[in-house]
Amino acid sequence: MKPLENQIAVVTGAGRGIGRGIALKFAEAGADVVCVSRTEANSAKVADEVRGLGRKAWALAVDVADPAAVSAAGEKILADTGRVDILVNNAGVTRDGLLMRMSEEDWDTVLDTNLRGAFLFTKAFVRAFARQRSGRIINIASVIGLMGNAGQANYAASKAGLIGFTKSVAKELGMRGVTANAIAPGFVETDMTAVLNDDLKKELLKRIPVGSFGQVEDIAHAALFLASPGARYVTGQVLTVDGGMVM
Ligand code: NAP
Repeated sequence: MKPLENQIAVVTGAGRGIGRGIALKFAEAGADVVCVSRTEANSAKVADEVRGLGRKAWALAVDVADPAAVSAAGEKILADTGRVDILVNNAGVTRDGLLMRMSEEDWDTVLDTNLRGAFLFTKAFVRAFARQRSGRIINIASVIGLMGNAGQANYAASKAGLIGFTKSVAKELGMRGVTANAIAPGFVETDMTAVLNDDLKKELLKRIPVGSFGQVEDIAHAALFLASPGARYVTGQVLTVDGGMVM
């Protein structure tokens, strides 16, 4: 029996990077997966990859920051799948810049996607989770939400907010059999980090005790653990997966 046999998972930001890695890891573990992304072609491609692993998949193009779109998507997902067991709030963006030059638009885009998006998606499934008296909520935060970072005030605020949100949801829903945890990745090699310059990467590497950058697989494994039956007693936690960068 696979750890997620016949479970149904919703993964936001599943079109690329960490979200794609989690969607495929969950499929390997026996789950059917709803792949949500902004770009239809990306979510459709990953849904095909999930089907290639022998599981059912649905692809949706949704902007997680759009309340009407998320609410409609939540209803459609529940109608199409019948139930949802696992929600991974992974969709996220950066709009880096020093505070003095940070526009309100860049602040809002990051907060709306990374924090509001997780709130809206969680709200879309929370009643169903409470009714079925089970559910796993996994929010992809960041070590930046724990330690802050010059040039990322918006991103750090969104991820610190996501951690506070996770703990509150864990307290509200624990009695209903629902767990909520956050993963705080360090530096993971994806499109998001590919834009950073080589000097910065060299500097970062010096601060990572294991001496290498993280891979999507590293985060996917952590998500699989938090979704699996063995993590039933783990809630309200932040699992840092960063090669020891923050300790
Ligand atoms: P990525 O490669 O840039 O992929 C981001 C994914 O999120 C894409 O599928 C994108 O959709 C989707 N997305 C972005 N905005 C969205 C929106 N408004 N609505 C729906 N989907 C949206 O990023 P990543 O590196 O995999 O990061 C995934 C998560 O991990 C993020 O929350 C990020 O903050 C977090 N994280 C990453 C790192 C790292 O080092 N990479 C470290 C710590 C935390 P499209 O494909 O349609 O564009």
